[in-house]
Amino acid sequence: MTTSVRTRFAPSPTGDMHIGGVRTAIFSWLTAKHHDGLFFMRIEDTDQDRHVAGSCRRILETFDWLGIQLDGGPDHASLQAMKSEEDYPGALNDGSYRGIPGPFIQSQRLPHYREWAEWLVANGYAYRANETPEELERLRADVISRKEVWSFREEMRLRADVDPSQPHVIRMRVTPRDGTTHLRDLVKGDVAFENANIDDTVLIKADGYPTYHLANVVDDHLQGVTHVIRGDDWLSSAPKHVLLYKYFGWEMPKFAHVPNVLGEDGRKLSKRHGATSVFEFRDQGYLPEAVINFLAMLGWAPGEGDEQNVFTISELIEKFSEDHIGSSPAVFSYTKLDWLNGVHIRRMPVAELARLLTPFVQAAGIALDSPELKAQFMAAVPLIQERIKTLKDAAGLIDFMFTDIPPVPAASLVDKKMDQATSLNALRETREVLAQLADFDPTQMEHAMRALAERLNVKAGPLFTIVRNAVTGKSVTPPLFGTISVMGREITLQRLDRAIDALSR
Ligand code: GLU
Repeated sequence: MTTSVRTRFAPSPTGDMHIGGVRTAIFSWLTAKHHDGLFFMRIEDTDQDRHVAGSCRRILETFDWLGIQLDGGPDHASLQAMKSEEDYPGALNDGSYRGIPGPFIQSQRLPHYREWAEWLVANGYAYRANETPEELERLRADVISRKEVWSFREEMRLRADVDPSQPHVIRMRVTPRDGTTHLRDLVKGDVAFENANIDDTVLIKADGYPTYHLANVVDDHLQGVTHVIRGDDWLSSAPKHVLLYKYFGWEMPKFAHVPNVLGEDGRKLSKRHGATSVFEFRDQGYLPEAVINFLAMLGWAPGEGDEQNVFTISELIEKFSEDHIGSSPAVFSYTKLDWLNGVHIRRMPVAELARLLTPFVQAAGIALDSPELKAQFMAAVPLIQERIKTLKDAAGLIDFMFTDIPPVPAASLVDKKMDQATSLNALRETREVLAQLADFDPTQMEHAMRALAERLNVKAGPLFTIVRNAVTGKSVTPPLFGTISVMGREITLQRLDRAIDALSR
């Protein structure tokens, strides 16, 4: 028996991971890590019709980007080494890891399910049945027409003697027929289900594959799972699982059925609300640690009186507790995610931020293809670190430093508080001051420019506005003198000359 905490993420390979599924995976992972336990992944592919090729790789890429390591599972290198036509990396196929028995793909574990289904039959907890889909449909319609709840029962069998060598299914025998089955859930509390409403569910299908219910219970037991953390859309399946654990005489894991993630309009989060795939968030310039921080707080809070919102990964691991998962649906606020992302960006070392920003600014057309440009970019990063919410925001704040700007219209070069002649003169004087400045650094520059405003008897604000427009072509930029200093003297003077020229015509 396992004593240490073990959790799993058990996706079906049916497409990209929805952000709500990622949140559930994060809860499982944090539970394991908080207790110094293991977190692993199992692919639940028993519904072969729904299999979407490439899903497993995308799921693994999601974890890889988030920086969540599956214990003993495929790592970054093995993911990179996967051939494009391969559906599963070796680490999931191969034996066992860290004491957890594999393989980790259900279609490769079929003998286990068969063995335990036969055990249930032999011990009276399951039976064979062979009604055709058409016969089942007729039975169902009959029950529904009597306004009763449809659940298959042994008594409905059309042929009680089923030849085991012929195609058939194995169904669980819900016992007792009346009474209630209780689930003690960490999130939902004590939930009671009427046995009368629990279907004699198929455990082994006619194609020999198990259904989700049997495979999930058998695997969670054999793989020593201590906490089953999953979306609450699985709550209605839980009584079947509770019964199976009882029939087998196995210790029940702890269950936590986590409420859905909703959009701000109270409806289930979907494309309608915005991005829902982790890859979209990655491509829009969100940081993995911000996404984890944000998702961890969708339905979990550190506890009474603790107002902390911003967490590093190790703080989350330290503070997370499965006992504090909330029972009401969590609302996905894109505004909060933006805010958190900005906070995590500001906490980052500049060099690391520059490394992460590079592909984004390059994609926006800023070529950082010489050591000079790279150095200039490094100098620009601290200017924008305070101002960006996503990595994608950066290019728009610094592009004018690296690419030519369109001619600045004369109207932007004359401030409302200064007439044309004063503005022109101010720009000329600015050019001289900047040309003469001994060190082209922000402090000296600001000092000299304030002195100039005084000498010209104009207000510093309007003066700085027209200078900003002239040298950047934008009315909003990172701090002016830091920006000018990063741009360098040569380009700054050229742009001032162009502005002076435009105003003199
Ligand atoms: N395969 C199920 C899914 O796709 C797993 C549910 C569970 O965690 O038990 O969500």
